[in-house]
Amino acid sequence: MKGITVLGSTGSIGVNTLDVISRHADKYKIKALTANTNDDLIREQCIKHQPEFAVMVDEDSALRLEQKLKDQAPDVTVLSGVDGLLRVATLVDVDYVMAAIVGAAGLLPTLDAAKAGKRVLLANKEALVMSGKLFMDTVQENKAELLPIDSEHNAIFQCMPVDFSHGFEELGVKKILLTASGGPFRTTPLEQLSAMTPEQACAHPNWEMGRKISVDSATMMNKGLEVIEACWLFHTQTEFIQVVIHPQSVIHSLVEYNDGSVLAQLGNPDMRTPIAYGLAWPERIDAGVERLDLFDIAQLDFVKPDEQRFPCLRLAREAMEQGGTSSAILNAANEIAVNEFLHKRLRFTDIARVIETVLENVTHNAATSLDVILNDDKAARDYALVTISDLAA
Ligand code: NAD
Ligand code: MG
Repeated sequence: MKGITVLGSTGSIGVNTLDVISRHADKYKIKALTANTNDDLIREQCIKHQPEFAVMVDEDSALRLEQKLKDQAPDVTVLSGVDGLLRVATLVDVDYVMAAIVGAAGLLPTLDAAKAGKRVLLANKEALVMSGKLFMDTVQENKAELLPIDSEHNAIFQCMPVDFSHGFEELGVKKILLTASGGPFRTTPLEQLSAMTPEQACAHPNWEMGRKISVDSATMMNKGLEVIEACWLFHTQTEFIQVVIHPQSVIHSLVEYNDGSVLAQLGNPDMRTPIAYGLAWPERIDAGVERLDLFDIAQLDFVKPDEQRFPCLRLAREAMEQGGTSSAILNAANEIAVNEFLHKRLRFTDIARVIETVLENVTHNAATSLDVILNDDKAARDYALVTISDLAA
């Protein structure tokens, strides 16, 4: 029986994780659930899964949850704040930690789970984008296991040789082909992009996801973050990663070898597949996913991404190539810009403009410690907010 903490249990990945786990009560026991403010959903989850701990980052929500659980789940201990997250990410009887908090807020507990030598199921790509080498070193030094949950990286993991820590050349790998759906604005006329609303941006053609990653998919910053994520996870550089737009989202990514073989992983666009893979690895378990019907799909298309339409792709590549804290700066500026866009205080096409301005003006440093990374993250957020208010003036 494996003990599990789900960080971000009320989100899209969190809910899918609990769905897979409830199909395998003989294998997995939920030890802790966490959320930011959604005390109604976590209350239901607590009643169903009876964890030892439930963490609400927001103090008032924690108090409300405690009241609500008094009768129906009195054995659940309710904790609050970031301290609560760190505690449940490192509990002795927790074997696996699902890192499914969105954004930089997930960095500290995810890093602590790695420090504690857990199996880290990594959905929270922003944590790795921010901390890169520090995170990978922490995993290695503490003999943690890192399993990518992002569907593309999970696909690549499945197509790579078993031990890929020695660099591509020795393994006969030529490149990674990272697939992207192209999001909801793949064919929208360029002159209409600036008027796109949060609702339009969040209406993804293939995947149902949280609002932040949905906007990231619309700008393709999501794919940019994934290029960075892939560099760290698979010990490679941006030049070995090619982004391929594949609107059907059936091939989740591919690995090309020097003998001409190209290995791909296919499946219906349903996050329960990579989640089940990460939980059971190296075995396989039922994920509750509908079987792939190739005759139903009939056709698979591939197109080159257009960098004029999707400038965020270029910005992410450039940040990774610049190195140091540049990726953390990119991520921070993006988080602020997306939030402002979601609150209708920034136009869709200005998201990339803000990020570019922040990258040009905030000095990056060697990412030697968590403090340096968090300092540059803060400087980038401040600069992004000033840039956005200048745009509005
Ligand atoms: P979501 O918005 O649906 O859920 C986010 C979760 O994080 C919620 O449980 C929320 O309570 C929690 N949270 C939000 N802010 C927090 C804070 N400040 N402190 C603590 N907890 C906080 O997001 P999602 O779509 O489930 O995505 C989660 C992560 O997984 C993201 O990093 C995303 O990029 C990644 N991911 C998601 C998908 C997907 O299909 N949804 C696919 C690949 C990767
Ligand atoms: Mg992805």
